[in-house]
Amino acid sequence: MRIDVLTLFPELFAPFFHTSILGKAHERGLVAMHAVNFRDFSANKHQIVDDYPYGGGGGMVLKPEPIFAAVESLLPNREAPQPEASGEEPQTAGSRPRVILMCPQGERYSQAKAEELAQAEHLIFICGHYEGYDERIRENLVTDEISIGDYVLTGGEIPAMAVIDSVVRLLPGVLGNERSAVTDSYSTGLLEYPHYTRPPEFRGWKVPDVLLSGHHENIERWRRRQSLYRTWQRRPDLIDEQSLTLEERKWLGEFERERAEEV
Ligand code: SAM
Repeated sequence: MRIDVLTLFPELFAPFFHTSILGKAHERGLVAMHAVNFRDFSANKHQIVDDYPYGGGGGMVLKPEPIFAAVESLLPNREAPQPEASGEEPQTAGSRPRVILMCPQGERYSQAKAEELAQAEHLIFICGHYEGYDERIRENLVTDEISIGDYVLTGGEIPAMAVIDSVVRLLPGVLGNERSAVTDSYSTGLLEYPHYTRPPEFRGWKVPDVLLSGHHENIERWRRRQSLYRTWQRRPDLIDEQSLTLEERKWLGEFERERAEEV
């Protein structure tokens, strides 16, 4: 996979690209990541990339020309990609890059979206700043708009890092233990079960006996029940989307009864 990030602050990405699991993935050639300063694509002699909003009001708006030029410089055929809204087929692996606008008005980011983006060969992220973007960027250049949540940050760099991190860890070979991504919260549709490590007892708090038993089948069953319990407690909305076994439905009944007894 290749990832390009268009930003006014490329220096923020150097440590991010070269640290921890992403750093190793980069070193091992599993992903190529680049930060591109779109100020370099301003035709203006002062390298201006923003301007006052038509119609007045506070804040500055990112101009279309430098962002179009920066994205187009990264495309093999140097043409702007067509947005999905145009009725085109969405990009599949091997086709044109996904051009992703980081934006609080975008689609709320999810693990399902991370899995979808992990299939692409080339992702281009656009990080905004100031009041926002000229609307023609949104309408004519991007294929996806992503929000990392219902709050507003000063820029798109941290949101882009969150998305990149979650996508890169899904690429084959990136995580040492492939299984750890498979059992992660949201990947299974449920929240993940609790973890314990040594010592078996800490300040009087013990690790559940089943985890020390070495009985793999019982451990798997315990984990599945804990995963369901945690999801039932914290994110019951996720359970509605699951197809549960008879035993799992029985567990849900047990959780309800235990709660009723506590009250
Ligand atoms: N005026 C814009 C609005 O109300 O939608 C907010 C602009 S925000 C101050 C500046 C930039 O930060 C945005 O263009 C976007 O790139 C980024 N940003 C802020 N919050 C974000 C979020 N929740 N998700 C993704 N990007 C965000």
